[in-house]
Amino acid sequence: MVMAMVNEFMIKKEICEIGRKIYNKGFAAANDGNISYRISANQVLCTPTLICKGFMKPDDICMVDMAGKQVAGRKKRTSEVLLHLEIYKLDPQIKAVVHCHPPYATAFSIAGEEIPTCILPEVEVFLGRIPTAVYETPGAQTFADTIRPHVANSRIVVLKNHGTVSWGENLEQAYWWAEILDAYCRMLIMAKQIGRVERISEPKVEELLDLKEQFGMGVDPRRLENADLCVNTEFGRGYNSSFGANGGTASGLPTGQARPGAVTPNEAEVEQAVQEITDRIMAALV
Ligand SMILES: [Zn+2]
Repeated sequence: MVMAMVNEFMIKKEICEIGRKIYNKGFAAANDGNISYRISANQVLCTPTLICKGFMKPDDICMVDMAGKQVAGRKKRTSEVLLHLEIYKLDPQIKAVVHCHPPYATAFSIAGEEIPTCILPEVEVFLGRIPTAVYETPGAQTFADTIRPHVANSRIVVLKNHGTVSWGENLEQAYWWAEILDAYCRMLIMAKQIGRVERISEPKVEELLDLKEQFGMGVDPRRLENADLCVNTEFGRGYNSSFGANGGTASGLPTGQARPGAVTPNEAEVEQAVQEITDRIMAALV
């Protein structure tokens, strides 16, 4: 509640610290990403353009007003600050915004896959459904507008073919959501490489959402909207169903189909290949 009396220098230092984190995590290559903090009703501290987020000093941080006009700082403010301001305008509780390019989370939007839910307990509790904003050229107001439908019901949004933007009551929190989401997406991609993805049952997800309410983290928007808990159930399907038992899904979904365009060998071909390999191994052993 003493946010108006916030120590500007300490916040600048913290912005630099979060910058180091996103750079070291590989969430912001070269000069990618930007970070901001609202210090008063009409003053927002933000990172400058064309600077590596891993090596910023407090003196590099700029200040803009809520219209995006630079009011302090020796370097030019980031062009993507309009995206941050749009989020602040929509919710006065939000004090910090982090935009970065976490590769695993971004890969989902590039692949045109919605991030599935009902898989990892922490993600159900902390993030819930993770929306993807429509693609728009970064920088202008039209880009900032893409976030509008998602601010009320989320903490982090994937920007299609671009990155993520996350927010919170402090900088650490805004950063955390990106870290949780990217770790999750990495696990999903790894599981998919092993074969398939199994989900937590809906009654067990309901238990997690009860916990979320008990923790004082509010009612999950999926409950408020009476929406499906499990999003993108297609992602759970195995692609290698033609090889038999491993291709089925635990969720009772229809057996997965081969990836479009993938060559699916028939049983006789597989058998022949196995025989050839066995013969070669036997030959090498004798
Ligand atoms: Zn960006």
